[in-house]
Amino acid sequence: KGIVGGKVAVITGAGSGIGRAAALRLAEEGARVALVDLKADRVEDLRKRIADAGGEAIAVEADIAKPADIESAVKEAAGKWERLDIVFANAGINGVLAPIETMAPEEWSTTLDINLKGTFLTVKYAVPFLKKNGGSIVITSSINGNRVFSNFGMSAYSTSKAGQVAFMQMAALELAQYGIRVNAVCPGAIKTHIGQNTHPAPELEEIQIPVEYPEGDQPLENGPGRASQVGDLVLFLASDASSHITGTPIFIDGAESLLH
Ligand code: NAD
Repeated sequence: KGIVGGKVAVITGAGSGIGRAAALRLAEEGARVALVDLKADRVEDLRKRIADAGGEAIAVEADIAKPADIESAVKEAAGKWERLDIVFANAGINGVLAPIETMAPEEWSTTLDINLKGTFLTVKYAVPFLKKNGGSIVITSSINGNRVFSNFGMSAYSTSKAGQVAFMQMAALELAQYGIRVNAVCPGAIKTHIGQNTHPAPELEEIQIPVEYPEGDQPLENGPGRASQVGDLVLFLASDASSHITGTPIFIDGAESLLH
């Protein structure tokens, strides 16, 4: 039952924010969900919540930037339920925010490794399973992935998010022959925990970093969006209700991008 009833989904970054909200929506609509995150305790809590509500879920601790980790996470999910239909490649970080001049090369690499290479690895290891029945891949990029905003210090983040859109479109072309659709959700500011792991360099202290969400930042909501609203969009893209949509970045930002 449900619009993704019987389907099997892998969700990365399921321990918090957008990934958690999407996992709950997919499970409510009948999907069996593999909850992947660096933080084992967070996905275990969510697994229990879904099981208590009568859903089916497994919690898997994995770092998406490590090939062996994410390969075995995808294999575990597809092995347990003997199929794979939906992949939500969502885990990501803001990383260190610093001017280009002072950003350490290894800080740049960490952001690109998690946000961009981690997305590639998640998709790469899922393709052999998705090919069997077709499926839907959804990637979390950002409005920053389409054109950059005045977010000083976010050169690595914005580059990773733009790279995800290019990768999404290449994957949509390459995988269409197998009936696999690939799309990206591009949120504006959404109230989650992402700001807690953000590290502005001291040079940026004087500059407003979008860790707090000012009122009036988004015309529609007069504030940030909610993770559950992105979860609804992910559910639509994951389901057969979007069966002719592929290769598309979809903004979900309450018209924030039109203000800048
Ligand atoms: P969040 O910090 O609330 O959740 C992210 C989750 O990903 C956390 O549970 C974290 O442990 C996990 N994670 C981080 N690195 C990981 C790794 N290497 N391997 C496995 N798991 C890892 O943040 P969120 O806002 O829900 O972010 C989800 C996605 O949304 C990110 O890709 C982010 O760039 C994107 N995004 C967020 C916003 C926003 O305003 N919150 C806007 C645009 C895009």
